Amino acid sequence: MPEQLIVDAIDFARNDGVHHGKISIAGLGRLQDYLLGNCGELKYTVAGTLDKTAKPVLRITVQGSINLRCQRCLGEIKHVLDLRTDLLLASNESELCRFDEDESTDVILAGSGMDVLALIEDEIILSLPISPRHVESECAIIKAGGGDTAGEKSPFSALAQLKKLH
Ligand SMILES: [Zn+2]
Repeated sequence: MPEQLIVDAIDFARNDGVHHGKISIAGLGRLQDYLLGNCGELKYTVAGTLDKTAKPVLRITVQGSINLRCQRCLGEIKHVLDLRTDLLLASNESELCRFDEDESTDVILAGSGMDVLALIEDEIILSLPISPRHVESECAIIKAGGGDTAGEKSPFSALAQLKKLH
């Protein structure tokens, strides 16, 4: 069952709210497409604060490791997460546009009932490599010298083999 942590984000930031805990990787529904196996947990912290100009900010940290799928051999790649993101909270659309002009910050529109775990999941997905691959010395296909170990499983691996042959 998906877990939820609902907060009034701007209120949470103004009151220096802090929440930390663990989320099971299996509970992050949208992340599953990127994973090979989903055991384990991730540690997270959400802390509210005000920035230099007294704008409310949510600071999210996530730590742990997940297993991604190598796009070349379809094997498992251990991927360590150590994220830290500050999200500036806009209370309405016009603030969102105004805050967004500063490209150094990430801005989100904060509602009174924000699902923080969904936000954390977004941050994790945004941080992932678009096409994860082993380094060459660790990739099964490269090691096998283009052998037929996983050659027919994916267009990616077929392509990798073609490239190797030429
Ligand atoms: Zn690989």
